[in-house]
Amino acid sequence: METESLWASGPDGFPVACPYGHLLGPGRVLVGWRPCRCSPATGGHRTYSCRACQALSDQRQTTCHQPPCTVPRKP
Ligand SMILES: [Zn+2]
Ligand SMILES: [Zn+2]
Repeated sequence: METESLWASGPDGFPVACPYGHLLGPGRVLVGWRPCRCSPATGGHRTYSCRACQALSDQRQTTCHQPPCTVPRKP
């Protein structure tokens, strides 16, 4: 399931809710970094992962990339 475009972002670009409706905030979101070739200027993406989704299922990868990734992901 492609959920990248379903994240609700606040005015500062920080996601405020995951695609499954979990509200995000301090302690509710894991902020990370993923190197990527689509962004030579910055070298990658800031990633935001919903901790509520991770707690529900190890299979559910609910991660938002900022800026959005333009490289098609391999199946
Ligand atoms: Zn969630
Ligand atoms: Zn990318």
